[in-house]
Amino acid sequence: MLNSSQAPVIDAKGLTKSFGERILFADAELRVEPGQLVALLGPSGAGKSTLLNCLEGLETIDSGTIEIAGQSIAALTEPELAKLRSNQIGTVFQFFHLLPTLTAFENIELSLLLKQVTPHERYERVDGLMKQLGISHRQEAFPSELSGGEMQRVAIARAIVHKPSVIFADEPTGNLDSKSGLEALEILTQLCSNIGAGMLMVTHSETAASYCSRKYSLVDGSLEPAS
Ligand code: ADP
Ligand code: MG
Repeated sequence: MLNSSQAPVIDAKGLTKSFGERILFADAELRVEPGQLVALLGPSGAGKSTLLNCLEGLETIDSGTIEIAGQSIAALTEPELAKLRSNQIGTVFQFFHLLPTLTAFENIELSLLLKQVTPHERYERVDGLMKQLGISHRQEAFPSELSGGEMQRVAIARAIVHKPSVIFADEPTGNLDSKSGLEALEILTQLCSNIGAGMLMVTHSETAASYCSRKYSLVDGSLEPAS
């Protein structure tokens, strides 16, 4: 489902999250507009992955408000939140998180199956994306048979196949060599732009951050716009 309202795809205000005594972020504000690519920088352990989980409604917050594509996630029931996620959100991880017992094709197809997209349309979409990504010859391969670069392409296709309005990418190039990383980045940003999706990308890579029009950094409990 496309975000037709043109509301920010992520609009978070006053976000606070702690684990015990440790405050990961306090009174944090973060916004991503439709189609905008935004980087999230910060040292290891700063709380970047936790922030992404909070924004996706996978982790509770201590205080603050989060809107995804114009919808306040606090107002949603668990099934409504699951529906919002499956319609509006795509996720790419550092370690790919593909399902080992499904083929590359099936990994990409899964979210469409769960949404009862017709077999014909499922085939068209998955086949089309795999061609675009240069991995159509790997349709029947299982994740264990794929290279890192191929696994990340499958993961990117999976994140984008349902045309979400926002992509959360957590160190998407962190586990790839620089050539594969650069290719994955090109593909990811191109596909985001094709469907008009915004993206929030955690990265340590200057190159990856240079694809983004805005940056935030999370350091010592403080989330700030960065240049
Ligand atoms: P980053 O992604 O920036 O490397 P994380 O968000 O993974 O950082 O983790 C931030 C800090 O929060 C780390 O110190 C981590 O150990 C801690 N942490 C993460 N999840 C939990 C949890 N469920 N309970 C307690 N502490 C956690
Ligand atoms: Mg992390």
